[in-house]
Amino acid sequence: MPLYSDEGIVLRTTKLGEADRIITLLTREHGKVRAVASGARRVKSHFGARLEPFMRDSILCATGRSLDHISQAVCIGAYARAISADYKSYLAASVICEITDKILDTEHEPAPAYYQLLLGALIALARRRHQPWQIGESYVLRAMAIAGWRPHLSSCVVCGKTDGLTSFSVHLGGALCRSDHAAGAVGLTETQFAQLRALSLGDWDWCGGRRDACVAALVEEWAQYYLERPLRSLRLLDYET
Ligand SMILES: [Zn+2]
Repeated sequence: MPLYSDEGIVLRTTKLGEADRIITLLTREHGKVRAVASGARRVKSHFGARLEPFMRDSILCATGRSLDHISQAVCIGAYARAISADYKSYLAASVICEITDKILDTEHEPAPAYYQLLLGALIALARRRHQPWQIGESYVLRAMAIAGWRPHLSSCVVCGKTDGLTSFSVHLGGALCRSDHAAGAVGLTETQFAQLRALSLGDWDWCGGRRDACVAALVEEWAQYYLERPLRSLRLLDYET
């Protein structure tokens, strides 16, 4: 079987048979990869904790017919310990990994923009650079934007007016002015619009304020509506209230 080496971040693991695991990774050069780690569930597995979620490893894989096989994994970024030590950081990292896994539905297709975004988010969580909810919500908006689902936040999606924005419609794709208010749109204040903009840009200086439950609910709805499926871990982010 042909071999390839890469570096990757573990998004998720699932059990396979008695002793093995399927590891889903986002790699730097090969995009999303699902690979079998033989014996990974044995107590004395030579992989140790290197194939747990949020770990960044240098890996050696063999290409298989349906799934690849991981033959070596060397840790190059142990963010998992610092992230798991703080429950809110753990929840945010779970959202980040789940949405990345769901957005990328094709394997072995390079996704460098996602790799950079994911790496930056996990480092920021591990080093406590910002509040976990800021990193989680900003990641969701930016990952969705890379996929082509970027909300219009600076002008009305119907008439293009940039002032007097009063509501936000997930279905229509963004902000609405007072005269174009549509059924199902959620009323937002200027401060709430500003927080959404700051999160979507990763403007940490601005979004240093408090978490807004209405903005958080919109971020959640935005992701689930355009991905057309629920995100299990987003529900957990309701920890803040
Ligand atoms: Zn309008």
